[in-house]
Amino acid sequence: MKGLLLLVAALPLAADDAARSLGIFLEHSQALAGAALKEMKSEVDSRLRRTGLTLHWRAVEENRGKEAFDKLAVVSLKGRCIARPAGQTLDDALPFRKQVTLATTIVKNGQVLPYSEVDCDQIRSSLGSRISSFGRALGVVVAHELQHILQNTVGHAKVGWMRQALDWRDLTTRKEGQDLPPLP
Ligand SMILES: [Zn+2]
Repeated sequence: MKGLLLLVAALPLAADDAARSLGIFLEHSQALAGAALKEMKSEVDSRLRRTGLTLHWRAVEENRGKEAFDKLAVVSLKGRCIARPAGQTLDDALPFRKQVTLATTIVKNGQVLPYSEVDCDQIRSSLGSRISSFGRALGVVVAHELQHILQNTVGHAKVGWMRQALDWRDLTTRKEGQDLPPLP
């Protein structure tokens, strides 16, 4: 009897475990230098830790369609994803005079689709002289878009990194084990 009970108890756990993987497929990530790529992943890992999901990073270009994940997202990197200052930088003063779009995620028929496009040039412009934080900033933006996908909402929080408008402080500040901001 003991063995039977254990088996019954173990089944839902195994199923639950399998449902906890998120495959993140990066498109055009070749230009991202090793250090920036590592920092971006670490930032996303930290911000999404409380989802309980294990993140698996893959390059779209290397995908052979042979891996199974519970959830999938495709993040396309646009522009020059290098930790070098952009030719043109935004005003350093806060709040920015001009708003720019750092990333977009596709919404169709009210559903948030798992496809995001992140604009590296705009992130570099937003950072100005703080370009050494490029990898982290990219991670904040990617985590923000993934949250829209995971929660299937375009809503924004009133505080924290899920606000609609972020500034360079939001993009460069490391906060360990952050709470997931509740979204409307
Ligand atoms: Zn957003």
